[in-house]
Amino acid sequence: MKLKIAIQKSGRLHEDSIKLLKECGIDINNGVNKLKTEASNFPLEVFFLRDDDIPQYIEDGVADIGIVGENVVLEKQKQVNIVQKLGFGKCRLSMAVEKSFDYTGIQDLHNKRIATSYPVIVGDFLKSNGISAEIHEISGSVEIAPGIGLADAICDLVSSGSTLFMNGLKEVETVLKSEAVLAACHDLQPAQQQLLDKLLFRIQAVRKAKN
Ligand code: ATP
Ligand code: ZN
Repeated sequence: MKLKIAIQKSGRLHEDSIKLLKECGIDINNGVNKLKTEASNFPLEVFFLRDDDIPQYIEDGVADIGIVGENVVLEKQKQVNIVQKLGFGKCRLSMAVEKSFDYTGIQDLHNKRIATSYPVIVGDFLKSNGISAEIHEISGSVEIAPGIGLADAICDLVSSGSTLFMNGLKEVETVLKSEAVLAACHDLQPAQQQLLDKLLFRIQAVRKAKN
């Protein structure tokens, strides 16, 4: 019996996900371009996937657990449990407008066009603030949308804010604060749950040692 974990194949969470497993004493050899590997000293099978696909794999039980941004878990609306925050991949989902936009408050977004890769989270945010706006879903390079006349505002992931700055934008609202989390399938078999508990125990020890 093995525990199946999904982690990002490449991108911002890849290295830190592998590093966390290593710090937990789990040895995995991640050869380039591998889709799947096994740990040599823990009953763990590792799948390398696009982060967007991870919640679905967990909901379906193809993977038992996964490491993914909380922002992706919330956007995808899949049935998964967030069992542990991991302290890396920290970022925020923020509204930004062009520097010249005389922004005074959220009501300024009323009836505006907002470009984002997070239509669900942004839709909820606008609704809870009583704002109606047009959401344009785009999958990448959201920050260029205002400059090319596609949108009046954007909602995108930010960490330092330098990408926004370089594109002549300013951050005006924080919609969500996010970090990488360990997510798990709702109905794990008892054997898998035991392995998860063992892994969680190690993760918590690693995290405590860092604080
Ligand atoms: P994939 O190819 O797996 O779909 P991606 O391009 O969608 O990758 P990345 O840019 O690698 O995703 O980001 C993965 C996650 O890293 C984000 O969902 C978010 O949780 C986190 N993250 C941390 N800081 C940032 C940032 N400044 N910009 C974007 N994502 C960030
Ligand atoms: Zn992605």
